[in-house]
Amino acid sequence: MPKKNHTATILNPDGSPVNGVGKVRGQGELLKASTLQAAIFNSGNFSAIATDAKGVIQLFNVGAERMLGYSAAEVMNKSTPADISDPKELIARARELSEKLETPIQPGFEALVFKASRGIEDIYELTYIRKDGSRFPAEVSVTSLHDAQRAIIGYLLLGTDNTARKQIEAEQRQLAQRLRDQQFYTRSLIESNIDALMTTDPAGIISDVNKQMEALTGCTRDELIGAPFKNYFTDPERAEAGIKLVLRKKKVSNYELTARDREGKETVVSYNASTFYDRDRRLQGVFAAARDITERKQAEKQILKLALHDSLTQLPNRHLLNERLGQTMALCRRSGRYSTLMFLDIDNFKTLNDSHGHHVGDLLLIEVARRISSCVREADTVARFGGDEFVVLLNELDKDKTEAKKQAGIIAQKIHLALSSPYVLKVIQEETEETTIEHYCTASIGVVVFPYHEGSQEDIMKWADTAMYQAKESGRNLIRFYDPKA
Ligand code: GH3
Ligand code: MG
Repeated sequence: MPKKNHTATILNPDGSPVNGVGKVRGQGELLKASTLQAAIFNSGNFSAIATDAKGVIQLFNVGAERMLGYSAAEVMNKSTPADISDPKELIARARELSEKLETPIQPGFEALVFKASRGIEDIYELTYIRKDGSRFPAEVSVTSLHDAQRAIIGYLLLGTDNTARKQIEAEQRQLAQRLRDQQFYTRSLIESNIDALMTTDPAGIISDVNKQMEALTGCTRDELIGAPFKNYFTDPERAEAGIKLVLRKKKVSNYELTARDREGKETVVSYNASTFYDRDRRLQGVFAAARDITERKQAEKQILKLALHDSLTQLPNRHLLNERLGQTMALCRRSGRYSTLMFLDIDNFKTLNDSHGHHVGDLLLIEVARRISSCVREADTVARFGGDEFVVLLNELDKDKTEAKKQAGIIAQKIHLALSSPYVLKVIQEETEETTIEHYCTASIGVVVFPYHEGSQEDIMKWADTAMYQAKESGRNLIRFYDPKA
């Protein structure tokens, strides 16, 4: 076995001395000249620095020269690896090791090799400082070198330049941060949307939701994700059909559904949805935004009501009456039953207006509406045709015309009687004072039972009106059935 202080010559494969250094003196046993060693010493990819037991550099390979900018001659037998390491890091490392190993360790070369000197495998990161003062991160692996008696004769420090790896790590960190920022941004967008948003897979299973979707359904995000979309609507089939429609058409607008939360509260929503894909254009699912349109629906209902009802009496107006008459005529054709239409006009209504004012007349019209309505069934229609004219439509009377006429006559008389009882109209004067006006009035009523010949809707209205005028002409306060000969 080679002995201590032996002199070794490190040769290149061609036999010339490695690094131009020639013989490596001092702890000569450090390395044996061989092809493998020559390859190590000639390698530019990593730095190999060998020291004696005290840390004095004995060997400085091509990689070390290239990385650190020193020639081997400049450092050999002069410097220690601590001289080319970041002093602050040495101090920190010495402190850390002292604490960990519970023994004082000097912040110089000792800090670099202490663990290796105790036979502990040591690989660490540290900053090397080049001859020109520039720095680079290195990963250093330290091994202690022994003689035959197991005495430490030196250390081998193999280092790689970590700049590229550090750069990649920094880029990866940056990328990861950017991804987190992007995710945060996307989530903020999703959460700040006033619509209930969600995504489903192509089978309609919910894969993501925002807070509004939780509010809409009364369920938590955890409950919603993984559950079928259709479960949260009053009409699950329609909800499922909606998803299928999006998958077929790629985009669907204003698809109305009624969501039902776990307490049973219903919300009418309008869905805008589209399919979404991954970067390879593979279908991922459906993205859907639901807007609460309950208020809009209510407003539409209100507008419709206003359009079809009289604002003073709240009764259906002539438009709604026409619609109902059309339906009744169709019903009569199917059922073979008779129905009836009555035209009513208050007698001498103008005198009330003239003597007590228009607003008192209004009170009477409201009361007339209430009284007529109280005489008929829910399924029948009482409409205000205009002014002091009212129309009553009775559905589904008898199949026999005579019997139907009888039924119509009974109702007409009931109304006639109800309208002729005294009216006590409460009038508020000068904001607080209430006075009552007692008034008596009658009505003239024209009745037509239909189907009547082949009469159209307009004919039936006209005939009822004609019968009413016949009642007026015959002295008022009368009921007249339509008679074409009269
Ligand atoms: P007739 O016995 O011939 O029916 O005589 P009338 O006095 O009842 O007169 P007519 O039916 O021809 O006219 C109805 C009057 O009702 C005309 C109008 O001044 C009045 N009128 C119409 N609309 C309203 C209303 O909304 N409120 C009030 N107070 N009066 C109305
Ligand atoms: Mg009148």
